[in-house]
Amino acid sequence: INIKNLSKVFRTEEVQTAALNAIALQINEGDFISVMGPSGCGKSTLLNIIGLLDSGTEGSYQLLEQEIIGMKENDKARLRKQHIGFIFQNFNLIDELSVYDNIELPLIYNNVASAERKKRVETIAERLSLGHRLKHYPQQLSGGQQQRVAVARALITNPKIILADEPTGNLDSKNGNEVMELLTDLHANGATILMVTHSDYDASFSQKTIYMKDGAILNEKQNARNVDVL
Ligand code: ADP
Ligand code: ADP
Repeated sequence: INIKNLSKVFRTEEVQTAALNAIALQINEGDFISVMGPSGCGKSTLLNIIGLLDSGTEGSYQLLEQEIIGMKENDKARLRKQHIGFIFQNFNLIDELSVYDNIELPLIYNNVASAERKKRVETIAERLSLGHRLKHYPQQLSGGQQQRVAVARALITNPKIILADEPTGNLDSKNGNEVMELLTDLHANGATILMVTHSDYDASFSQKTIYMKDGAILNEKQNARNVDVL
């Protein structure tokens, strides 16, 4: 991920909001980076642009060596489906679909054959201790279980990049810790992770924390957990 001079202005009838202001950011394969800063400073906007859910107003953005600015929506959607997994604070599960169907959805979007889909859903459900929950519906699960379903759905396509927007925001500390340990595992297995958080504790799991204010990056800090002590 290579971002230069990225700005984003939201225009509504009465107001213009400069949500991002000349952001420069480089994220390399295998990085685990957290983003912190006060409410309204542009964290989610940045994550959404990186995840191809929104576009910048100005600047350049290269993802997997492709220029995103000016790319057709279809091509962006294909890149997003193939390479990016999202985890949200409110889980964003579909209440009308079972756990199985929620997890399977990205595979359907990616035209994966049904026998292969079944195999992959069952494998990831076991890995996330959801094997006995596949026929349940989201509302029948605890918050921690719902977030595990959301993580399973984000991972089912083996995305190169995982974008997490306050993934523990609605969880108690035990379930929050489980999600952080899961992200740490994924990182150890080569995933690139960008996580927005309000929690210093969660941020300490990442290699580097970026602090934002008023749409800009103020500074960054390396996190001690990753200091090589050999
Ligand atoms: P954060 O995630 O750091 O809380 P956001 O990225 O959500 O901040 O928002 C950054 C700024 O952009 C805020 O001032 C917010 O009100 C504004 N904003 C975000 N989304 C929209 C939108 N769709 N329309 C208008 N303004 C928006
Ligand atoms: P939490 O500690 O997150 O509030 P809950 O009390 O919601 O957890 O759930 C405790 C356990 O009971 C969980 O394993 C959850 O899956 C199960 N459970 C809760 N509601 C239902 C339900 N309506 N049907 C089946 N299982 C449920």
